[in-house]
Formats: sequence, structure tokens, C-alpha cells
Amino acid sequence: DIMIVNKDYFGSYSSFGIHKEMISDKVRTDAYRQAIVDNPSLIKGAVVLDVGCGTGILSLFAAQGGASMVNAVEASGKMATVASQIAKDNGLLWNEVTNGSTKQENGVVKVINSMVEDLIESGQIKPKSVDVLVSEWMGYCLLYESMLSSVLVARDHWLKPGGAILPDTATMFVAGFGKGATSIPFWENVYGFNMSSIGNELVKDAAHIPIVDVVDGNNLVTNTALLQAFDLATMKPDEVDFTASVQLEQKSSNSTGVESTTTKCYGVVLWFETSFTSRFCKEAPTVLSTSPYTPPTHWAQTLLTLNEPISLSSKMLTTKSRAMVGSEVNPAVKIGARISIARGVEHRSIDISLEVTAI
Ligand code: SAH
Repeated sequence: DIMIVNKDYFGSYSSFGIHKEMISDKVRTDAYRQAIVDNPSLIKGAVVLDVGCGTGILSLFAAQGGASMVNAVEASGKMATVASQIAKDNGLLWNEVTNGSTKQENGVVKVINSMVEDLIESGQIKPKSVDVLVSEWMGYCLLYESMLSSVLVARDHWLKPGGAILPDTATMFVAGFGKGATSIPFWENVYGFNMSSIGNELVKDAAHIPIVDVVDGNNLVTNTALLQAFDLATMKPDEVDFTASVQLEQKSSNSTGVESTTTKCYGVVLWFETSFTSRFCKEAPTVLSTSPYTPPTHWAQTLLTLNEPISLSSKMLTTKSRAMVGSEVNPAVKIGARISIARGVEHRSIDISLEVTAI
């Protein structure tokens, strides 16, 4: 549970570095571009609401895709100013033409500097007038610092009945990780010396602290389980907090050898996928995945380390071969994991709880 207050939160988004990082994340930005630009039946002529426009990149895509009006809402004053300037520099800024005598180039992007929540009272955007709500709201572990609640407020106030939300689904996954995903291997052999006491200490310290890092799929030792699926078009605001249970078993290996191996599971890794499904993106549905099995994104993955690793045997293990495993007393066949994620008391933090049982 890491706490960040709102002031610091919008402060952090007013530094250009973070926007460069997001825009440079091609997996992320290309998925949004495809969803917005390659689905003309959705975007052409549509009234769009971009919740948290930042530099305005998604609004520019929407303008490019033929939207008739794009409301780009941004809480950070600095970013809203910059987004306006950028829309203008690209000939896409909306401005009211009151003077009929001079012809003005008129774009469709209207930047509004406000928290989306505060905009409701102002009446600047008519309730239930938006065809497509687009937002890049996802945080680490999907929900850390997440703007999802703000997006749902905007959905319920401005989206027309049957309107589209991009992305429209978000799914969280979980799998067990092995030693290779920890710092143990690095310290085991340092110029030929065994420094594993450092690695062991680091792994102990990591328990109770979520770590955001890129994990290679090769270092996962269990199957992948679906933890939680959100339907963003229909979910209720309080469904953001959840508890879910999964069972993990040793990842099936392709090897034809004896299946009597045990592996140690040091913890679980969490990641998410958001989808622009054919429900709204008829021409070009797409998926934005942050899986360890696909190219890394700036979200990386989130690792939750156990107090003690759990020895896991393949389910093929017979009683006899179990005995032969030797020092490994009663390796588990499955790991039961119960995971809760809830918004923290402090705005934007999240509390993650993980309970594991060896089955
Ligand atoms: N859409 C941009 C930026 C995404 S980052 C892109 O895809 O690159 C999220 C942005 O939302 C930040 O700039 C942040 O300041 C803004 N934001 C977060 N919560 C908000 C809220 N409740 N109302 C308005 N803007 C918000």
C-alpha cells in the first residue's frame, strides 16, 4: 500500500517525462490508435469525450478518425494548456466562429481544464450527449493510482445510452513465478563467489511490498489464471474493489522426460489486458496486453513475493516419486491464492492482500 495524494498525482502528470514514456510505449499507443482510427463506423461523425487527455494524443487520433467533436478533459492546468497548443499547431483546435465575414479553419478538439468530476456542475458538456468515451486510465497492477472511478463517473453522466467506451473490457491475470524472476540467481554467482545471502535477504524483504518489474514468461512456474474481468460498459462503480480466488498448478512442460520435478514458487505475478472488442470496434477490434508472454509495456508486471516459497510438484507425481523428491517435504500439487484489491483510504492508493494455501 503506497500512498500518493491527489496534489502530487496531478503534479506528476504535469511533467512531460511521463507523457513521453506513455507515448513511447508503442504497445499501448498503437492499440488506442487502431481502436480509434481504424473503426470509422464508430468514430466518423461521433461526439467523443477523452477523459484525462494529457498531451491530447487520443483526442488527436479521434479528430483524425473523423469525430465531429472531441471534448478533451484534463485536470492538470499545465497539460491542458499544452494540449490546446498542440491541437492548434496541428490545425485541430475547436474555436467558436462568431465572425461570419472571415473564414476560420475550425477543428474539433475542445480542451477543458478540469477534473472530470467537477465538470458535471458546470454543464459545459450536455448530459448523455457523448457517443464515444475514450480514456487511458490504467495504472500499475491495473488499479494503482487508477482513474477508473473517474471514468465511470463520466460514463454515467455523459455517455448516451448504448454509447461506446474504449477500451470496453479489462481483465486481470495471475501466475506463480520461480527463482528466475527474483534477484537470487544474480547473487548466486558473483565473479565465482556465492553471495546468495544477499539474494535471500532481498527476497525476504520483498514480501509485503508489491514490485513493478518486467517478468519473462519463462520464469513463470504455474499456469495462468484469470483473476477478475471487468465490463467497463456495465460495471458498477463499487465493483472496482474485489476479492477473487484462483488455483495454480505447475506449468505443463513440453518435455517428454519424467514428470517428477518440483519447482519452487516464490510468489505471484499480476498483469492485465484491456480490450477494444467488436462490441464497439466492429472493423478493427484490438487487445492491449501487458502479459509476461507478450512484448513488455511501461506497466511491466506486478510481483507479490511470498514469505516462504512453496514447493510445487507436477500433478503426475506418484507417491513413490514424491518420496524420491527427498528433502522437499510434501510438495504441493496446487496453490490456492485469494487476492483482494481495494482502493486505499488515501485517494489513488490501493490495498492488495494475498493469501496462499498449499493444496
Ligand atoms: N490520454 C493521455 C494521457 C493519459 S495519463 C495519453 O493517452 O497519453 C492520464 C491523464 O489523466 C493525466 O494527464 C492526468 O492528469 C489526467 N487525469 C487523471 N484523473 C483525472 C480526472 N479525474 N479528471 C481529469 N483528468 C484526469
